[in-house]
Formats: sequence, structure tokens, C-alpha cells
Amino acid sequence: MPSRAWCVVMLCMMVCVAGCTSRPPALTPADLPPSTMADLAPDLPVPVPEAEPLPRPSPPRDDPSAGGPETVVLGRSVEGRPLVLHRFSRWGGGTLVIGGIHGNEPTSAEVAERLVALLAQNTDGWDDAPVAVLPRANPDGLARGTRVNARGVDLNRNFASANWLPRRPGHPRFGGPQPESEPETGAILRAIAMTAPARIVSIHSITDGRECNNFDGPAEYLARAMGDANGYPVVASLGACHGSLGNWAGVDREVPIITLELPRGEPGSEAWARNRSALMLVIRPEAAAARLAGETVETTGRTSSHKADESPIKEVKGGR
Ligand SMILES: [Zn+2]
Repeated sequence: MPSRAWCVVMLCMMVCVAGCTSRPPALTPADLPPSTMADLAPDLPVPVPEAEPLPRPSPPRDDPSAGGPETVVLGRSVEGRPLVLHRFSRWGGGTLVIGGIHGNEPTSAEVAERLVALLAQNTDGWDDAPVAVLPRANPDGLARGTRVNARGVDLNRNFASANWLPRRPGHPRFGGPQPESEPETGAILRAIAMTAPARIVSIHSITDGRECNNFDGPAEYLARAMGDANGYPVVASLGACHGSLGNWAGVDREVPIITLELPRGEPGSEAWARNRSALMLVIRPEAAAARLAGETVETTGRTSSHKADESPIKEVKGGR
């Protein structure tokens, strides 16, 4: 008969072996080849979960206390700065706008903050077009003037999309030691879980002359409506963008998402003036559809009485 101690030793060994076979070891800088900053081979273990559809809560619309604006602290950045979501209706299914995910693109945060100020002028007007704004998704990067967060992670490469790619720490597009490793990414995911957006706009900036309305997922009609308003071209792809929010939401989950690329050299006030109507068209998709159909629409101020998720998307697509 084996002794009790021997059984404990054997049990520990079995657990260890099982753990080693079912879960690949975490990637550390020491595991990576020191000679190159290029992307690693795609056959490295990548712990990316299967894509699951976004939550679709049905808020109790007969409960008056469930609506109305609120400010939510989603979490804290690596350096402890609050990650704040402004909700102008607590119904789900509307528009989520994100700014400042890259800290060296401050006009994206400024435009998002100006949108918050505009929406706040009519705090009771958004139940028919739910909208929420996270204007400073990477506050540490914004404070430092860096694309990445305080841990050197490109947050727009840190999402658990099917094409997330392990890269060396220090790479300008380092997507983190694993997907969703960063608190700022977690805050964005919490904002998505909380608002269950029907569409997302992520505001960035890019080299002057390359500004565009980039879309992923079924968002071409939104990109075209925005282009009609801001004059930027519509772009279906800006490259692979491994682990980006556009891939996570648009490609993997088919949630319409616009990556609005502002011209980086333009002051925030000018970028806002050019994009105010474009953003309001996304928030009110029925207005976007009307604009594409050649109708004149008023995109400022309160929403219409139309329900946001009854936009005639198919009519627009079929007519063009
Ligand atoms: Zn960017």
C-alpha cells in the first residue's frame, strides 16, 4: 500500500501535468526572441476566447427610474485615473462613443468631450436614441502624450479579437502580455456590457491627409452618412490592426463600428466643428438614412420621436 504522503505527491504531479497540458504557459519577455521587434510567429499559444455575441439587455422601459443620465466610473487606469462613462439614457442598444484610446491623439478626447457637453444640454432627450460617451479611454497616455498606456500597451491592440497578436514589449503596437490585460481595456468592455451598443464610434487621429471614416462590421451606411457630413473618405480597412476594438466588435461580433480618424494636425475646435453633425448622424441613425436618401435633416439638439433601432438600414443599402 502506498503511504499517504506518496499519494499526496502523486496527486500533485497529476494536477501539475494536467495544468500544463490544458493551459499554455503565459508569454513573458524572456520567451521572445531578442533579435527582432517584428511580429511573432502566429503559432505561439494565444489565449483568445471564442467570440460571443454582445449582451442585449432589454431595459424595463415601463420603469421611469431606469432612464435618465448618469455618470459612471468604470474603473481606474494603471496610474489610478478614473475611467468615466457619461450615459445620457440608461436604455441599452444605442450608440457608444469612445475617445482618447491613443494618448498621442488628444483631439479625439477633445471632440468626445465636446460631444458630452452638447448632449448634456438636453439631458432628458435621449431615451429614443440612447447614447453613452467614454471620452478619455487612455487617460495615462493622454497625460504622457503617448500612444500606449502607462504599461506600454497599445490598448487598441489589447482586445481579445480572433486576430490578437503577441508582440514584444516595447513594440509600438504591443498588445499586452495577453488580451484584455489592461484595466483601461476592461473599462471599455464594461461600458459595452453596460450599454449593449447597437453601434460604436471610436475616435482617433491620423496623419493629416489620411483622415477618414473607417468602418468594421455592417457599418458602411454609417460611414457614408458621416462622410457626407464631414467630407472624409469612407475606408473599409486600415490594415490588419491585430487586437483592435474594430476587429473585436465589428469583425468578430458584427457590431457596426466606425473608427473616426481625425486629421492629427487640426485643432480640436476645428475637428469638432467638422464632425459635430457627423457624430449626431450616428447617434440618430434615422437621420443618417435620411441624409443618404437626399433629405435635409436637423442633427443638432434633441432627438426625434423615432426609435433609434428602427433605422431603415436596408432601404439605404438597397437604394445605393
Ligand atoms: Zn489611434
